[in-house]
Amino acid sequence: MIVTVSPIDSTRQAPSLLLPRTRSRFSLACVVPVFNEAEQIAQFLEQLHHTVAELNADIELIVVNDGSTDMSGSEILRAARTLPVHYIELSRNFGKELALQAGLDAAHTDCVIMLDADFQHPLAAIPELVARWQAGADMVYATKANRAAEPWLHRIGAAIFNRLLSVGQSVQVPKDAGDFRLLDRKVVEALRAMPERNRFMKGMYAWVGFKSEAVAVAMDLRAAGRSKYGTLKLAGLAITGITAFSNAPLRLVTIAGTAISLLAALMGFWLVFEHLFFGQRIPGFTTLAAGIFFLSGVQLIALGVVGEYVGRIFDEVKQRPRYLVASRSLSSALGSRSDLQRSQLEAEHLSA
Ligand code: UDP
Ligand code: MG
Repeated sequence: MIVTVSPIDSTRQAPSLLLPRTRSRFSLACVVPVFNEAEQIAQFLEQLHHTVAELNADIELIVVNDGSTDMSGSEILRAARTLPVHYIELSRNFGKELALQAGLDAAHTDCVIMLDADFQHPLAAIPELVARWQAGADMVYATKANRAAEPWLHRIGAAIFNRLLSVGQSVQVPKDAGDFRLLDRKVVEALRAMPERNRFMKGMYAWVGFKSEAVAVAMDLRAAGRSKYGTLKLAGLAITGITAFSNAPLRLVTIAGTAISLLAALMGFWLVFEHLFFGQRIPGFTTLAAGIFFLSGVQLIALGVVGEYVGRIFDEVKQRPRYLVASRSLSSALGSRSDLQRSQLEAEHLSA
């Protein structure tokens, strides 16, 4: 399969402030969330390994099986016989955001690259991400150079979502940036320290800050199978994103409520005025009925918005684990590092 990285306008933020990382050999973990990708996962891991093996780095492929119901698990374990795989199987499907977090929690390398298992994130862009990191950036994210292949409904949705997200926000979430990115160890640790259960990763990357750079990448089409993110699921994620990162909806509801109450009061005064001075009879129940329906609608929307926030507070106060790991295995190709990790894992289990 041919992957293309467009050489177009990659933007750098304040390059003069970056201090290059001079250490020649480093460790790199690739975190891959997997949900029902049996058709191509083994081939993907092989190609990914082939790409990163060219770098002067100790490689670890952290593959998180997010409750797949197909043969993904056995396919990954088959690939792990020859590749340096750290396999994590979650106890059920927790969603991509938490699968990514599970992978990040397991990574103890100098830097981490996160990428999808469906070949949409071109592997050919990896050396550029690493080069930017070596030049001093703490986070290097790929921005979609082309959204044309996406359904128009998703593109319009993304535009509205980006606009809503940027209203009244203290952090700016970069447009068209996704989860395909490289994180330095300190960014990984910062994300790990954020305890929330409702995780909207794109907002969290922006919130943690650090020196970030964008690289424009032409994303590919999914190699096999179907996207797990339909319109409804994307809309759900958008609501999580907005409610997790902005109080703007609450403020909007307050403003709308105040404006409607003022209008209603003005209308009331006008009707009384008309009645007293022009002898106008108060119009019949139609105005009243329309007003009641309108106001009930506004109240229900307001309740819904407040409910969204209350629901999220409820999720947070329950303090449940963010995800549960059913099993882990480290392939022997991880070599001596796997012994080290095994002892780390045992230590984690003992302290849990
Ligand atoms: N994924 C996951 N858990 C889910 C849904 C998706 O781990 O509940 C993984 C999926 O296997 C893939 C990546 O997340 O590696 C992106 O998913 P998908 O391609 O379906 O999303 P899209 O690219 O359409 O946004
Ligand atoms: Mg995809």
